[in-house]
Amino acid sequence: MSEASAGKPRTLPTTCCVVGGGPAGMMLGYLLARAGVDVVVLEKHADFLRDFRGDTIHPSTLQVMEELGLLQDLLKRPHSKAPRLQVQIGDQSLTLADFTFLPPQRAFIALMPQWDFLDFLADAGKRYPGFHLIMKANVSDLIEEGGRVVGVRAITADGPLDVRARLVVGCDGRHSTVRDKARLEVEDIGAPIDVLWMRISRLPSDPGFGGRIAPGSFFAVLDRGDYFQLAYVIAKGDAERIKQAGLPAFRQMVATALPFLASRVDELKSWDDVKLLTVRIDRLRTWYRPGLLCIGDAAHAMSPVGGVGINLAIQDAVATANLLWKPLKQGTLTEADLARVQKRREFPTRVTQGLQVQAQKRVIQPVLRSTQPLAPPWALRLFDRVPVLQRIPARLVGVGVRPEHVHSPEASAASR
Ligand SMILES: Cc1cc2nc3c(=O)[nH]c(=O)nc-3n(C[C@H](O)[C@H](O)[C@H](O)COP(=O)(O)OP(=O)(O)OC[C@H]3O[C@@H](n4cnc5c(N)ncnc54)[C@H](O)[C@@H]3O)c2cc1C
Repeated sequence: MSEASAGKPRTLPTTCCVVGGGPAGMMLGYLLARAGVDVVVLEKHADFLRDFRGDTIHPSTLQVMEELGLLQDLLKRPHSKAPRLQVQIGDQSLTLADFTFLPPQRAFIALMPQWDFLDFLADAGKRYPGFHLIMKANVSDLIEEGGRVVGVRAITADGPLDVRARLVVGCDGRHSTVRDKARLEVEDIGAPIDVLWMRISRLPSDPGFGGRIAPGSFFAVLDRGDYFQLAYVIAKGDAERIKQAGLPAFRQMVATALPFLASRVDELKSWDDVKLLTVRIDRLRTWYRPGLLCIGDAAHAMSPVGGVGINLAIQDAVATANLLWKPLKQGTLTEADLARVQKRREFPTRVTQGLQVQAQKRVIQPVLRSTQPLAPPWALRLFDRVPVLQRIPARLVGVGVRPEHVHSPEASAASR
């Protein structure tokens, strides 16, 4: 009988164990392996398929991909481009952000299914011998010795597995097991909204990407080629009331808010076609402990407002690799190195979450409470009339606060 089938965990030694193969984990795994650090990425699902997750690749991420020499190949995968963000309030259409002032190769938001992006990173990682991605590996606990995290315990398709590492990085998202098990304190910032996601087919004559605001309703409409991905923003806890009012009433509401879809709302055949995602905004007070660090949503869960969560996760990964590749490779990693990662990334996190909270309070909540026809606020009208101003939201959403550049090197084949 093998050790695994007898229930005794196999042990896999590595330098860095990354928990979670989302945007933060896959990018960190890729960058560390590229720099010649041995890394094991553990992902609990069998594949990257997720419906209704963040699918927006912003100019900051396009820039990172360009710096890595991967952008051209990435953009060969199916995607659509949004060079501007538009919002329709009542019957007025306004341009809020315009990315076209950025260098042409990244002057847009690329709408690409998240699984395509993650598959791409998984493929790109294979060229480095130190990149080990294990799917269907569900991390259930940390291994601690003398007050220090020295690895994780996972349940895999081949039985229990202990991965022992100099550093464990929790990239396991907003319901992070790693941060729970590490007993890191979470500051709950709160989000007054939830989102109902659905898809309805798209015709070539339909309008494209943007926000649609009417009294009591706020939709984000994402053009996904032959279908629309629709995000219907609701007041927190309202999903049950909406369901009780019945599917015909819900379809009617969608048809009224988005008249160009009126003839297709019957595609919502049951509540199974409408997925509730509970929104939360929180962040860790301290992102690390000896032997352990959290980044991405595991360190700071993001609201979908602005669609910036993936990009912040990627920026965290780039900064982590920049700061830690060397001490990891040389075996000199200390808690001070981990503190440097938090110091670098906490400011952009706070600013971005602060903007999301303000957008929720000042824009989304008043819209959801309104019953009278809405007029666009003066600030939005000004942005629409003075195109140069559209660069400000474009920069905030597309590039973000303190954008990161790749400084971790690509190790030569001989030194990997
Ligand atoms: C409704 C909604 C819509 C959003 N829309 C957008 C958008 O349009 N654009 C945008 O940029 N952001 C969006 N976001 C935010 C974005 O999805 C996240 O901020 C981003 O995915 C965070 O990346 P991450 O890698 O930190 O975590 P995640 O993407 O959550 O990845 C975590 C990974 O860890 C794995 N995992 C979890 N637990 C374990 C475990 N115990 N063992 C092993 N693996 C584990 C998960 O399977 C997952 O693959 C949205 C968020 C929500 C809730």
